[in-house]
Amino acid sequence: FDKRDGFIWFNGELVPWADAKIHVLTHGLHYASCVFEGCRMYGGEIFKLREHSERLIRSAEILGFEIPYSVEEIDAACIAAVRAQKLTDGYLRPVAWRGSEMMGVSAQKNKINFAVAAWEWPSYFDPEQRKKGIRLDIAKYKRPSPETAPSMAKAAGLYMICTISKHAAENRGYADALMYDYRGYVAEATGANIFFVKDGVIHTPKPDCFLDGITRQTVVELAKARGYEILERHIMPDELPTFSECFITGTAAEVTPVGEIGPHRYTPGQITATLFGDYMAAVNPKQAAKAASA
Ligand code: PMP
Repeated sequence: FDKRDGFIWFNGELVPWADAKIHVLTHGLHYASCVFEGCRMYGGEIFKLREHSERLIRSAEILGFEIPYSVEEIDAACIAAVRAQKLTDGYLRPVAWRGSEMMGVSAQKNKINFAVAAWEWPSYFDPEQRKKGIRLDIAKYKRPSPETAPSMAKAAGLYMICTISKHAAENRGYADALMYDYRGYVAEATGANIFFVKDGVIHTPKPDCFLDGITRQTVVELAKARGYEILERHIMPDELPTFSECFITGTAAEVTPVGEIGPHRYTPGQITATLFGDYMAAVNPKQAAKAASA
């Protein structure tokens, strides 16, 4: 991934992709003093860019550091990064971290670095699997309590258990894993929020110890606009067999139907299909208008 052509926006400059490097003693690498975003661009527009830039700044504040760029400058860096790659559709990764000036847990004076890379990334899951509904394993690790970790930050450190869980799931033949929270409630997948359907009503875990994803918020609004009843509540694992449909949401995952969670089976149905269509229309209104008039 580090040997591509093109440029990465790095501390105020467009640097050739392969030269966008950091030192091995980077604090963000050793102590996870790092926050990031994931955005998608559709038809030349970055979806909800401002919300992502604002969340990045908030995540950094939660970790006790200030990104040395304003929200407008972060937006502009994202736009410069996709332009440099000549992308109209793709994924963007803004990332901010403490540098390598001092080594040790404390690094109050280390430089705060900021970079944005962008690349083509059509589907987060295998398109065939995605149509049928992906298969989720159940993760061993639990989403931590907000008293144990800064759960509302999109912080690199919180992804340690996500990568372990996703690898374990993949090694057992699953696409991803469902994580429970520290209380045992159903929480989310390793990089996406989760929704269920039962008797025409949508149920989704209350985001009180994991990210209330920008996609999740968008899908909640779209569901309400459709007049669907939607309940944000604590969901116990013993309810998993009672749901008929299930899908996950995230910037990378978009709206992805789930066909299995461990021993439980779901059939992507009308509500999943409707919200999938509404989400794709919301992220790419130009294409939706073209498709509607064709
Ligand atoms: N939870 C986790 C752990 C994630 O990594 C993501 C992806 N950022 C989400 C939820 C969904 O967030 P969003 O819809 O803002 O991409």
